[in-house]
Amino acid sequence: MTESTPTSEFETLPLPAEQIDNLRAMGYTTMTAIQKLALPLALDGRDLIAQAKTGSGKTASFAIPLLTKINPRFFGVQGLVLCPTRELATQVATEIRKLARYLANIKVVVLSGGVSIGPQIGSLEHGAHIVVGTPGRLKDHLRKNTLDISQVHTLVLDEADRMLDMGFSDDIQHIIGHTPEDRQTLLFSATYPNNIQKLSAQYQQTPEIIKVESTH
Ligand code: ADP
Ligand code: MG
Repeated sequence: MTESTPTSEFETLPLPAEQIDNLRAMGYTTMTAIQKLALPLALDGRDLIAQAKTGSGKTASFAIPLLTKINPRFFGVQGLVLCPTRELATQVATEIRKLARYLANIKVVVLSGGVSIGPQIGSLEHGAHIVVGTPGRLKDHLRKNTLDISQVHTLVLDEADRMLDMGFSDDIQHIIGHTPEDRQTLLFSATYPNNIQKLSAQYQQTPEIIKVESTH
């Protein structure tokens, strides 16, 4: 008797079959509301402003599209995710590593404050495909010339409203200045105040604005 494979909503998206299988193994068969809106647009290369509450599945909304564009044979930073805190950066990196399991040898490095910088420099020297970090520490690495983000094709601002509330605006602008202008920029935020609109106007190209109220 053959086991029947559960159907997956992710099959409707232009994703590699290996990723659909990986998502199924993770228990991801239905998309959350924000994923339904964000994934088709982000996979199409659009810039996004996505507004949704905690627990709504925002990480996969940016990580799945980001991973489709990673070239595993090129050991340079291609995806950059900015998060407000070390804890969030660690959580996001853990989720990206699970979502990346269908690809061989994708290296995700966390660069956040509160830990010594030496080991971080060491892991960057071995090559990283994706960097997840906090603005202050990322700026430190840029100042020291230990991080090259000139080949980044996807930039994610996760919990952007919190990063601005924490006073990271100047650091964020400094970091974005080191990335290519033709990158894709995905901005995730629980709220959409004026300072977020200004940040978007400065760094995004005709973004799609999507919003969901519920978490599912
Ligand atoms: P947010 O960033 O919006 O707070 P997360 O991306 O951290 O939310 O996701 C919250 C939880 O939901 C995580 O444990 C994640 O693994 C899980 N999750 C996300 N998308 C799906 C899905 N499509 N199916 C099942 N679980 C999911
Ligand atoms: Mg999140």
